[in-house]
Amino acid sequence: MREPRFDILFQPVQIGPVTARNRFFQVPHCNGMGHRDPTAHAVMRGVKAEGGWAVVCTEEVEIHHSTDVAPYVEGRIWDDADIPAHARLVDLVHEHGALAGIELVHSGLIAANLYVRQPPLGPAHLPVSGTHPVQARRMGASDLIDLRRWHRQAVERSLRAGYDLVYVYAGHGLTTIQHFLSHRYNDRRDGYGGTLANRARLLREILEDTIDQVAGRAAVACRICVDELIGSVGLERNEIEEVLGLVGELPDLWDFMVGDWDFDSVTSRFADEGAQEEYVRGLKQLTSKPVVGVGRFTSPDTMVRMIRDGVLDLIGAARPSIADPFLPKKIEEGRFDEIRECIGCNICVTGDTLMTPLRCTQNPTMGEEWRRGWHPERIRPKVTEAKVLVVGAGPAGLEAAQALGKRGYEVVLAEASNALGGRVALEARLPGLASWIRVLDYRANQLDRLPNVEVALGSRLTAVEILSYDFDHVALATGSRWRADGVGRWHTRPLELNGMELLTPDNVMTGSRPRASRVVVFDDDHYYMGGVLAELLATEGHEITLVTPEPRVSEWTVNTMEQHRIQRKLLQLGVVALTSHAVLSARDGVVQTACVYTDREQELPCDSLVLVTSRLPEDALASELATELAGRPAPTIRLVGDAWSPGTIAAAVWDGHRYAEELDEPPSNGDEPPFLREVVALAPLGGSAR
Ligand code: ADP
Ligand code: SF4
Repeated sequence: MREPRFDILFQPVQIGPVTARNRFFQVPHCNGMGHRDPTAHAVMRGVKAEGGWAVVCTEEVEIHHSTDVAPYVEGRIWDDADIPAHARLVDLVHEHGALAGIELVHSGLIAANLYVRQPPLGPAHLPVSGTHPVQARRMGASDLIDLRRWHRQAVERSLRAGYDLVYVYAGHGLTTIQHFLSHRYNDRRDGYGGTLANRARLLREILEDTIDQVAGRAAVACRICVDELIGSVGLERNEIEEVLGLVGELPDLWDFMVGDWDFDSVTSRFADEGAQEEYVRGLKQLTSKPVVGVGRFTSPDTMVRMIRDGVLDLIGAARPSIADPFLPKKIEEGRFDEIRECIGCNICVTGDTLMTPLRCTQNPTMGEEWRRGWHPERIRPKVTEAKVLVVGAGPAGLEAAQALGKRGYEVVLAEASNALGGRVALEARLPGLASWIRVLDYRANQLDRLPNVEVALGSRLTAVEILSYDFDHVALATGSRWRADGVGRWHTRPLELNGMELLTPDNVMTGSRPRASRVVVFDDDHYYMGGVLAELLATEGHEITLVTPEPRVSEWTVNTMEQHRIQRKLLQLGVVALTSHAVLSARDGVVQTACVYTDREQELPCDSLVLVTSRLPEDALASELATELAGRPAPTIRLVGDAWSPGTIAAAVWDGHRYAEELDEPPSNGDEPPFLREVVALAPLGGSAR
């Protein structure tokens, strides 16, 4: 049972006309499914409600076709045709006793309107964000009247879909209302520009319209950016305090957020739990209405402190609810050490940035609830008495073993080293990645509770040994190794690397260090590893040049919203970033590089070369087993995780989970997709929208 000190988290909270059953509030978050995958989206939100969240919200939902953030896949409530998809989501949330919230958005300067092909609207004639050759058009008086009417229409449709809470959205730098509020974008001289009261006029009008339209049928929430974090150029705390003086009592709930999305969802590499507290503290005292805010909260003690200290009334969460949709239930039942704590890696964000269904390093079932029928807390019981050997206790092996254990199979998890965790145990020791150890912590804890899973450390197994036991199935989760020959994206053949000290990430992570000062890191991987190793070695006093064929360091991390932070950090540490260059060869004391555009070569004096290019699967055991088995059908052998195909930790966990889910399933013929998908219903040919 839970301790009484956590009771406060389970007090109901009145939000205007509706009551949240507890203080756990899943704030709006993107998911890469939105209007394209409505059923998958709805079922995912339903699972959150089942997990105990009192309020479950959508992502931002476009109120009108004049605000189209394509190619990103968000929600839409452009017209009545969108209502059934929302109603499905609302029903699934209601089924589990939660309130359903919708975050209505008009995206203004953010929406390039690439799909609808009409100019976006904003407070001023300004280019839209990003680099699209598109400008927003300054809204005139009639545009503002139109916008208010569209918002009202979207509110009414939201009510028809059954939502209990409707958002007026002025946050993340993503909305027209915020663009009017901030003098960074608003240079108007009419009644909507100049003084703060004027800049807040649109916010006030839309709040009043929304309150009028809902007429007590739902609560009205307002999500607002309380500091744009760009100094006096943008919105700052003092202005928000003034805004609260003007409209603080209008909505039924305030949702305070800070900066753009990259600060709201800052990675654990750059900020700890509760990073937003200093910006939000004290604002609650300026309104009588309840307040929600986020902080990647996974610790019940921190949550209690937020309430007791008067910072928040409701514990907002996006990522913690993705990593563990059952977080509230687990706290309610005192099952604290069963919480699958978010590691702050932002792989979930890549669902949005890459416009594909949400995924999560910690929770392999995220995004798979409907299409594969996976559930974060339940898994089908075993269908045979088969015994399973899992070889390798990295993320893939750990996940496979614990999920198979929960299915009831008799499992042995054999690990060559004397510690669990594989790559995650090593990577969590790199600068800024300590939270990643939670991938191991959660799984080790689950394994401890499963008497049917035996863990054998210090057991490097050979094919002959494996076959000498009596297993029906063998999962080889033996991982991968970084290549030392430079092969990767840029070079698909080994480089000439003579007379130079070479190191791979594996070497560095297991304690090797460059012997001398001058080090070149060649990053042809582009995720975190090259940048992290450059950071580590620079901090330890080496002179680092990071060479990458991409125009920026750790290029792929734009998708996890941390590229700019990584580049800043490396530059601050004195790392020289030689971008748009590739390493061609190395010899004693010199690394030869070339510009990827001009082929112009240059020589870098260097003592050691760290190669972060690509990995090879550790799959030799599979071939040895195939030879030993000589065609016999048992045990079945499958490579899992990085041993099958090196990828992210998230991919390894997912593959381990998939192995466990599919064991003893009739094999798929591989010809059809092994998951459900929603195919659009064809509209009649011809016709006109007018
Ligand atoms: P993944 O990301 O796919 O889980 P990791 O590289 O993190 O892969 O983990 C692989 C693990 O497998 C490592 O801990 C490694 O020690 C272990 N391992 C590799 N070969 C063997 C083997 N023959 N017997 C037992 N364990 C092994
Ligand atoms: Fe947290 Fe990473 Fe999962 Fe996102 S992907 S919810 S940051 S663990």
